[in-house]
Amino acid sequence: MTQTHQHEVVIVGAGGAGLMAALYASRGADTAVLSKLYPIRSHTGTAQGGVCAALGSEEEDRPEWHTFDTVKGSDYLGDQDAIEFMCQQAVETIYDLEHMGLPFNRTPEGKIAQRYFGGHTNNVTGQPVRRACYAADRTGHMILQTLYQQSIKNKVHFYDEYQVLDVIVEGGSARGVVALELATGELHVFHAKAVIFATGGWGKVWEVTSNALSCTGDGTAVVMRRGVPVEDMEFFQFHPTGIFRMGILITEGVRGEGGVLINDSGERFMERYAPHVKDLASRDVVSRAMYLEMREGHGIGGRRYLYLDMRPETVNRYAEADGRVRPDGTPYRVTGSELLAKLPDIIDFCRTYMGVDPITQPMPIQPTAHYAMGGIPTDMFGRVVVDERSTIMPGLYAAGECACVSVHGANRLGTNSLLDIIVFGKHSGMQAAEFARGSNYAPLPKYPEEATVEALEKMRSADGKERAADVRREAQEIMEQDVGVFRAEAGLRQAVDRIGELKERFAHVRVQDPGRIFNTDLLEAWELGCLLDLAQVTAYSALMRNESRGAHSREDYPERDDDNWMKHTLATLRPDGIELRYKPVKVTRFRPMKRVY
Ligand SMILES: Cc1cc2nc3c(=O)[nH]c(=O)nc-3n(C[C@H](O)[C@H](O)[C@H](O)COP(=O)(O)OP(=O)(O)OC[C@H]3O[C@@H](n4cnc5c(N)ncnc54)[C@H](O)[C@@H]3O)c2cc1C
Repeated sequence: MTQTHQHEVVIVGAGGAGLMAALYASRGADTAVLSKLYPIRSHTGTAQGGVCAALGSEEEDRPEWHTFDTVKGSDYLGDQDAIEFMCQQAVETIYDLEHMGLPFNRTPEGKIAQRYFGGHTNNVTGQPVRRACYAADRTGHMILQTLYQQSIKNKVHFYDEYQVLDVIVEGGSARGVVALELATGELHVFHAKAVIFATGGWGKVWEVTSNALSCTGDGTAVVMRRGVPVEDMEFFQFHPTGIFRMGILITEGVRGEGGVLINDSGERFMERYAPHVKDLASRDVVSRAMYLEMREGHGIGGRRYLYLDMRPETVNRYAEADGRVRPDGTPYRVTGSELLAKLPDIIDFCRTYMGVDPITQPMPIQPTAHYAMGGIPTDMFGRVVVDERSTIMPGLYAAGECACVSVHGANRLGTNSLLDIIVFGKHSGMQAAEFARGSNYAPLPKYPEEATVEALEKMRSADGKERAADVRREAQEIMEQDVGVFRAEAGLRQAVDRIGELKERFAHVRVQDPGRIFNTDLLEAWELGCLLDLAQVTAYSALMRNESRGAHSREDYPERDDDNWMKHTLATLRPDGIELRYKPVKVTRFRPMKRVY
């Protein structure tokens, strides 16, 4: 028997974006959060490096510089009005978190401490600027803890371990969601005035990823299946420093503290690829350089990994060569115990998972699928827009990694995602509450869970010729091989065809577990369906974009083409294939310039 619940604002996802939305929505409306994980297990909790804002705690900095860096980092595909809004809002939002009790590291004077991250610069001198606020290397963990406590205090209703499988759209507006309760296998209908999706990213589309197992892009797939186009799916970021083979992330903060990338000849190769900013170049630039090094046989022992070296003697040697100084003008020097105090968790990861001690040994690393720049298209207030004229779908909102505002364009700068989730989480929550206050519950369709019941029934009773794990592994291999750091037409075409074939095989996947209670077999198979849909639109959007921009690097079209491609892709899933449309980038102040590294 399906139970029906009613809440004015229903938020799907309890990561940083969902909890920030919940906190602000609950100030004006009855708010519920549904999450397939316990809130503090969300992927936000793994974010290590920091969250940026031009506070200027350590040295001069300005929101305008942050705006330009983000536009430039996006390779001019980001919408400049939204970027300006985010960078301006950043400062008060960070102080907001501080006042809620987030334990940021401090400067000796007691201000919020800040550190270097790739792409963040002083626009006058062109030198890196310390803009990333951090709580050791547990910044995301602290954001989740703080926001969860505040949401409990604000009487947000939490439905933990409820997995949303569909959004109810009727008469062109969102009216609720359908969810499965993991503990019982029962379906629940949530009737809402406003629904906010905050379901995070989909790194699990690729074989080597920094993302948690749960990052399967459910919300983006569910919304796409209801006819909403998805934006800029071809832009997916590969982070340069994942632990070899496992993909587990080593924060860019390591390079911020002076760590360097080294090839098999012991060379700091980034000096050749980005002579100005070197190891702190944007992630797309560093990942490509690493691939080229490995392709030319400069991987360690000729293999597919390189070294990230943060041993104090290495850091100090290169800091001296770069003439790096502390704010008081003294030479920059580090000791092992200072590094341990600033980066305790990643040092622990390396010791535990690799048996490597980063204080005395270099770390074997390779690029790892990390972050979705694309997603559900929204305006600056989290309202979902469904076409190239930015028509709003009433009652539907999205925030965080599942959404595309677009502030990251073709490539996201480090620490801008935690900023994105808190700024746009907050505004989507406020907007949804305001919308809910001014409207009544629109009636639900007669049998809102019908499509979900059918989909689950099909998976329970399929002919069973296929195993979900096999289909998933093949899809991940195809995406890694042909829709990875470098792409070209032949490979992309093949990827589109092969993912299409896997979708047909998926129809024959039968779950082994016939039970109802905690049937993770069923839900993982359902998630595989999401991964396949997202893989398909990613590969197809990438095939059709004949240029290289940000994270999308076409070997057959190596140049950025501003005459033809200063536009966002909108991909709609149709029964007979994918339809692509395009909408222009919003340019306010900054005309595209060539990137200089
Ligand atoms: C290892 C790692 C380190 C990172 N470090 C940084 C960093 O230092 N700085 C930075 O700016 N960014 C960093 N990022 C990126 C950033 O952390 C993420 O982009 C951001 O935290 C995403 O937040 P979110 O709230 O959108 O999603 P998430 O935190 O992923 O939360 C998603 C939520 O949705 C729920 N959910 C998903 N599907 C369903 C469903 N079907 N039904 C119900 N609930 C569902 C989940 O339970 C979860 O609560 C890092 C990312 C990774 C992977």
